[in-house]
Amino acid sequence: MPQEQISNPAQRIAIVTGGASGIGLAITGKFVQAGIQTVIIGRDPEKLRVAKEKLGPLCHAIAQDLNDLASIPALIARIAAQYGRIDILVNNAGINMKKEFADVTDEEFERIVHTNLHSVFAISREVVRIMIPQGQGNIINISSMAAQYGIPKVIAYTASKSAIEGMTKAMAVELSPMGILVNCIAPGFIATDMSAKALNGDAERKQKVFARTPLGRLGEPADIGDAALFLASPQAKYITGVVLPIDGGNSIGF
Ligand code: NDP
Repeated sequence: MPQEQISNPAQRIAIVTGGASGIGLAITGKFVQAGIQTVIIGRDPEKLRVAKEKLGPLCHAIAQDLNDLASIPALIARIAAQYGRIDILVNNAGINMKKEFADVTDEEFERIVHTNLHSVFAISREVVRIMIPQGQGNIINISSMAAQYGIPKVIAYTASKSAIEGMTKAMAVELSPMGILVNCIAPGFIATDMSAKALNGDAERKQKVFARTPLGRLGEPADIGDAALFLASPQAKYITGVVLPIDGGNSIGF
């Protein structure tokens, strides 16, 4: 847990779940470069340590398993007490599993939906309780192409990401009048460990991804970082409730 207090009250405070790797690490990198104090949360303390070392003093790391829903209220209360406010929440932590529909067990389905949806709800609710009295806040959810069109063998992931998009809209209509903007980024196929697992060793899937991506290449985590920084910026102050594909055109590809 970070020990230092914020000296400049105008400085914004962000939480990025899963901020120690892949897309979350890139989002945190952009936030830190923009002077935003950013708390990253993940399960692996070593991954968090390496990320913090890379990103410097504006990055703060907390090791916590967000699957433990009962621990989330105290986690958010600690962060709010430490920093005095929470301006931005990026719900980025997520897991995937590729398996044929008929072979997926109830436990496997539940595991994916628990991390990708239940934890997102629980952490968002706690953060919103801090943001409401502030009269201001910015929440960015992370969806997927799996919620834009049908992708085989990712049933639980698709269910969870489709729910995230619905929740984004429901949260936006309820919370925007209180000054809390809620948006969603739908990344296309971005070069991270997660996409490597899904695509490497599956030449047909890989070929399909490239064939329907007009820009003809995978995205970089920093592409999502730039979009998140924009959505969290004053320049995006009239944007709420949108699902923004950052996908090289994949979602509209022929
Ligand atoms: P990574 O696997 O690199 O990152 C996922 C992060 O989530 C890790 O840092 C992991 O940290 C954290 N995490 C997972 N489960 C938990 C948990 N229970 N508690 C706390 N932290 C957790 O994947 P990506 O960067 O690729 O994915 C980030 C997001 O982007 C995900 O929501 C994913 O669905 C989405 N996405 C990715 C795409 C891609 O092409 N890469 C495409 C579309 C969407 P740790 O293991 O330490 O817990």
